[in-house]
Amino acid sequence: MFKRCICGEAMALGLRQVLYSKTVGISGVPVYACGQCSRSEVYPGVKSDLSRLLSELGPKPLPREIRFDELHEWARMLSQASSASLPLSGARIVQLTEERTNELLDLLLIASSLDDTAWKRELEGRLSQLNGQYIT
Ligand SMILES: [Zn+2]
Repeated sequence: MFKRCICGEAMALGLRQVLYSKTVGISGVPVYACGQCSRSEVYPGVKSDLSRLLSELGPKPLPREIRFDELHEWARMLSQASSASLPLSGARIVQLTEERTNELLDLLLIASSLDDTAWKRELEGRLSQLNGQYIT
């Protein structure tokens, strides 16, 4: 999982802790970082969900710790993949994503048969987070 930095070096994808407003620590955020010029950027597929989280926290949040990998399916995949192998293996992530997608689809089937609209909506949201990785 690499991307070319503007300085010409490769940026590696990893999970970082992001400090927001100096009070809120958000751990498990997928970030591309360059070892050469120390430039870093949030993985494009999670940007919109991260900015939504920050706007929910507001300008003066109380100190707390948030685990982004518990909120976002794709961050969760990366977290699982990185505990299994380093550096992050693209093939491993694809495999984990497929497994998790199948798991969520099974749950969606159950939610549908129970006519549980709220649960269905939550599961559909999680499925779209997994697909978000391709929208970069
Ligand atoms: Zn660079």
